[in-house]
Amino acid sequence: MTRTAYAEINLPALCHNYAIARQQLPGTRVWAVVKSNGYGHGLLRVAQALPDADGFALINLDDAIALRHAGIRAPILLLEGAIEARELDEAHAWQLDVVLRSEHQLQWLRACGQALRVWVKVNTGMNRFGFVPERAIEVVRQLQQDGVCEVAGLMTHFACADDLATRLDAPWQHFMQVVTTTGLPFTAANSAATLRAPLTHGAAVRLGGLLYNNNPFYPDTSLWPAGILPAMRFAARIVHIGELAAGDSIGYGAAFTAEKPMRIGIVGAGYGDGYPRAAPSGTPVLVNGQRVPLVGRVAMNVLAIDLSAQPQVGIGDEVTLWGDPALSCDEIAWRCGTISEELQCALTSRLPIRQI
Ligand code: PLP
Repeated sequence: MTRTAYAEINLPALCHNYAIARQQLPGTRVWAVVKSNGYGHGLLRVAQALPDADGFALINLDDAIALRHAGIRAPILLLEGAIEARELDEAHAWQLDVVLRSEHQLQWLRACGQALRVWVKVNTGMNRFGFVPERAIEVVRQLQQDGVCEVAGLMTHFACADDLATRLDAPWQHFMQVVTTTGLPFTAANSAATLRAPLTHGAAVRLGGLLYNNNPFYPDTSLWPAGILPAMRFAARIVHIGELAAGDSIGYGAAFTAEKPMRIGIVGAGYGDGYPRAAPSGTPVLVNGQRVPLVGRVAMNVLAIDLSAQPQVGIGDEVTLWGDPALSCDEIAWRCGTISEELQCALTSRLPIRQI
């Protein structure tokens, strides 16, 4: 069977989303978060599509160096700093900003003697990395006294910013304790905090989801800015049309049984391409702009859809699995009990990418 599934990465849409964020955040730098292969959209592809970005944030040193090799000169922030002392020399050589998040790293930093630009991470409740406020203040003072590194500012990452039922007051007060004592600029906000708490914008926001059309509050759309567009469309073609009689079931586990005669389309995409196996019957796909439901279990290479109300649709027709203004990745993720980021990062490397 010819491979029919592909992902379409829409770079003008990505630029457009960045421009909306930029316009709505005067006075704050907008760093594009491009970790995990640009949330599955392609690390270099995304970074090169945003030539005027104020900066990029990512996890791995290798990725940062790849951006520099590709000619990206904008500031790059290593969100987790280093996991080995030698990485600090590299970070200095490639002019990367680093987040300082642990006592280990502090020792390496002071020993390596490189004039790195450092953002001191404050633990405001995520409890994975960072210094508690009192210690963060001491660390800043130590580094300033050493005079080797440039303390560019303070950084935090909120644990519950995407949960509108959880208030940000307590983590914010912890962070502010360090900000007011040190007088340093800060970066605190991901997409969720940026959207819900303007106080957190500071010197720079770190936007991932917002740029990739992933609403952190989905299905609540009350804070979602108008005009943000999908940057990734996942599509595949119909490879077979079949019929079910009443009482027939379809697919592995006979998980769906027809109550009446049905016209079924078999789509050439499955979890081997990155479509989630967890998607239940009833999850919509788009065919000719119409929503039709998935039926039965998603298999490795195919999934089945109900075309009973679509007699005109035939073999070879294209189906959008997500990434259309009428069918967001957020909706598919939500129906699977996950978030868009997981689906986008899970697209398999065998899936062809078309870039527009
Ligand atoms: N900052 C840090 C430290 C992160 O780990 C992430 C992503 O998880 C972001 C910012 C971007 O978050 P979002 O995609 O919600 O904008």
